[in-house]
Amino acid sequence: MIHHERIRPPSHDYPADEWNIVEKRFHPEFLAQLETMLALGNGYLGMRGCPEEGGPNAENSTLINGFYETRPITYPEDAYGFAKTGQTIVSVTDSKIIKLFVDDEPFWLPDANLLTYDRRLNLKSGTLDRQILWEMPSGKQVLITSRRLISFAHRHVAAISYNVTLLNAGASLVISSEMVANQFGVSTDANDPRQTRAFAGRVLHPQARYAKERRIVLCHATERSRLALTCATDHFLETSCTYGCKVTHNEDFGQVAFTIEAQPESPIQLSKYMVYYTSRIACAEELCGRAEWTMDRVMHQGFQQLLTSQEQYMNDFWRRSDVRVKDVREDRTNRTTVEIQQAIRFNLFHILQASARAEDTGVPAKGLTGQAYEGHYFWDTEIYLLPFLTYTSPRIAKNLLTFRYKMLPQARARARELGHRGAMFPWRTVSGEEASAYYAAGTAQYHINADIMYALRKYVQATGDELFLRDCGAEMLVETARLWLDLGFYSDAKRGKFCINSVTGPDEYNTVVNNNAYTNLMARENLRYAAQTVEALRTNDPDAYNSLAHKTALDPSEVKAWIHATESMYVPYHEKLKIIPQDDSFLDREPWDFQNTPREHYPLLLFYHPLNIYRKRVIKQADVILAMFLLGNEFSTDAKKRNFEFYDPLTTGDSSLSSCVEAIIAAQIGDTEKAIRYGMAALLMDLADVGGNVKDGCHIASMGGTWMMLTYGLGGMRDDDGILAFWPRRAPEDNAILRFPVTHCGRMLEVEIGLETVEYALRDGEHLTIRHETEELHLSRENPVAVRPVSRT
Ligand code: BGC
Repeated sequence: MIHHERIRPPSHDYPADEWNIVEKRFHPEFLAQLETMLALGNGYLGMRGCPEEGGPNAENSTLINGFYETRPITYPEDAYGFAKTGQTIVSVTDSKIIKLFVDDEPFWLPDANLLTYDRRLNLKSGTLDRQILWEMPSGKQVLITSRRLISFAHRHVAAISYNVTLLNAGASLVISSEMVANQFGVSTDANDPRQTRAFAGRVLHPQARYAKERRIVLCHATERSRLALTCATDHFLETSCTYGCKVTHNEDFGQVAFTIEAQPESPIQLSKYMVYYTSRIACAEELCGRAEWTMDRVMHQGFQQLLTSQEQYMNDFWRRSDVRVKDVREDRTNRTTVEIQQAIRFNLFHILQASARAEDTGVPAKGLTGQAYEGHYFWDTEIYLLPFLTYTSPRIAKNLLTFRYKMLPQARARARELGHRGAMFPWRTVSGEEASAYYAAGTAQYHINADIMYALRKYVQATGDELFLRDCGAEMLVETARLWLDLGFYSDAKRGKFCINSVTGPDEYNTVVNNNAYTNLMARENLRYAAQTVEALRTNDPDAYNSLAHKTALDPSEVKAWIHATESMYVPYHEKLKIIPQDDSFLDREPWDFQNTPREHYPLLLFYHPLNIYRKRVIKQADVILAMFLLGNEFSTDAKKRNFEFYDPLTTGDSSLSSCVEAIIAAQIGDTEKAIRYGMAALLMDLADVGGNVKDGCHIASMGGTWMMLTYGLGGMRDDDGILAFWPRRAPEDNAILRFPVTHCGRMLEVEIGLETVEYALRDGEHLTIRHETEELHLSRENPVAVRPVSRT
């Protein structure tokens, strides 16, 4: 079911382009959406796509992954074990401001007479580019071009190249480069639980500030989370015009103002460099030193070198990751194909921006494009993002899994707090502690533990990184297996089967239920993988086994207990309907009255009390259907079809995590119409604002889901047993050619699904064994290509 209409800015002003997200006219009504869509980031630092002039803005945030402030969560009716401390990402010093005054008149977008306007997120160079021709009431024409980047190669660095040229007359200019801390700019809707909690008053407390020539350094720290922040800016001006410069600063503000006598046709070029450092350990003053070292280096290298390294990084990324579509009946100017290609690249680019340099952190649900969901990390990372990263940028995938590993001490403590054995990862967090204030749709989502282990297995199989499994993965497996064994029990009511009660599955519209099928299936996988891994270590690597046993106080009898629970796991099944009920009481619930639910009452969570939702048979997001995708080899196509047909009409898609998964199963069961409909909804979730809330930030999980939809869904990719297999299917009316690369154990494969044939080509590496349907193919340097016929659905 899809309830939301696409609300898309007019296409003539936002023309489709394969490599750019283009804005041809300034539309104040789309300000907030464009801030999100045109946001830049590198996984550490993020800036929304606000104009250089410091406004107009809807939410002008500059975000650093993992930089948050805490607040006590107060429950009018408290209970044991509720999360006590809220964590909220905070906007840091905004350093990108460059104000322009010509003959004392400010350049201000909404008021300016713009003869030309072009702003674009350039997916090839990883930059935000703008070119404007402004005609002043005096008739003077001012050409303003800028290029902004947040460096992938230099984690702490951002830069802007800002150019002004007076075309037809001279003028007195002021270019004021500014930095501002403690701007209060996020207006939040208190009724929307997805938005962030704004702090009242000052969040960044001044620690130090100074200026040296055109360099300004501002240092702050948060009060309760005790995180330090340093932001430095520096400037390089190139012009043949005469100019002066004045530097001012106070604790929350820095300004370098250039006053210039501009000559006609004489370009004025300002390079502004911004460096950010944050730390939990080092004090702000120490961070100043680090910021200065970095600044010295980038000032010395200059903007061009930053740009070159950015382009190289992007080149490399696209080589490993680009998914291309081409409709053979259409030429390249056809809008639909271009639009789809644009949307695919837009999604992949934003995943990169959310994760590339997320070292020692997770990936927030909105990446660094907005403050919604408070900058928290959820299961989104493991289930929706990691497949893409694992198969295209395994280093990033490893960093994210390592981050989970480092969270193990807190996860162990949380398990103890709740009276469990093992470790219990938080449903939402920045620091590692549980920060979810609503346990029913938070802490109760135990499945996150199995989700992390699922991503671990996929990572290890796809990369062959057995060392990571040995050194980090195994310990997490032991602790999560213990959790499941402790949580479940052998129930007499279910003929001695292993049952897991009082949990919430992915579907947040059915909470605290018994035997959520998704949870039981994923827990079974977790227990099985834990047992397998420990057994393999015991047999093949006794030293590693002993060290693991020592670290975790593992008793050999535990493994037997895990195997027993795996074999006895209860999975609900309804004989008459031949479906998997989502949980024990799902089929007892009264059907939701979809007919009389007005379109504008979606998402339901904003219009109905949770109880009214929980007692009805209605689903927020794919749950059983998600399990059928993730554990695809455990279900026949018939079973997938029956379950899809049962659950699809009940699924509101109120979570953006739903459409992509529904599209995959629809593709697998040959329901082309639904596969396309859901697929397009997922693909355009952000570009066409399908959910109506792109203003709050990109839906990073759905973006990862679009890659899964293209590869696992349309490409028929399967990776259940460690060997890559492809079952491409093509509907009769489908004329698109799909081409994508996948990295497997250090080798790169390129798959091209044509109209009649599929071509597998080994691009990097000596050899690779894959499967085309059930046939094994051995690709090697000598025989790098295999071509097979594509089956029709
Ligand atoms: C979804 C969760 C998801 C969260 C963050 C919620 O609306 O129900 O599954 O983890 O958003 O994206």
